[in-house]
Amino acid sequence: MQRTTSQREIIKDYLKSTKSHPTAEMVFRNTRKTLPRISLSTVYRNLKDMADDGDILEIADKTVRYDGDISHHAHFFCDKCGKVYDIYEKIHHRNHRNHRIPGKAERMEIRFYGICNSCKK
Ligand SMILES: [Zn+2]
Ligand SMILES: [Zn+2]
Repeated sequence: MQRTTSQREIIKDYLKSTKSHPTAEMVFRNTRKTLPRISLSTVYRNLKDMADDGDILEIADKTVRYDGDISHHAHFFCDKCGKVYDIYEKIHHRNHRNHRIPGKAERMEIRFYGICNSCKK
């Protein structure tokens, strides 16, 4: 199991070090620099395990991306360049307690879509 653990650690370290919210393919390309023999399916499996364990976030949009930052934050998706930005500002939902939901919500995911400032220039 040592092998699996170290692959997982390397993938996790990469995700913690980047703000790019990479796809599995991007994680694969990067991990291969350290582990030349790793396969894409191994990367997928590790990512899935880590997401299931809550070590990383899985952000499914047009493509599935991964985030090593599991603190509570929102995302902004740029429709033009495809970049995903982190938003750490507290977002207030004045009326969210009044919404009719079929249970007790523990968390809420917030997404913004639009054109980012660097694409607007
Ligand atoms: Zn953009
Ligand atoms: Zn993020």
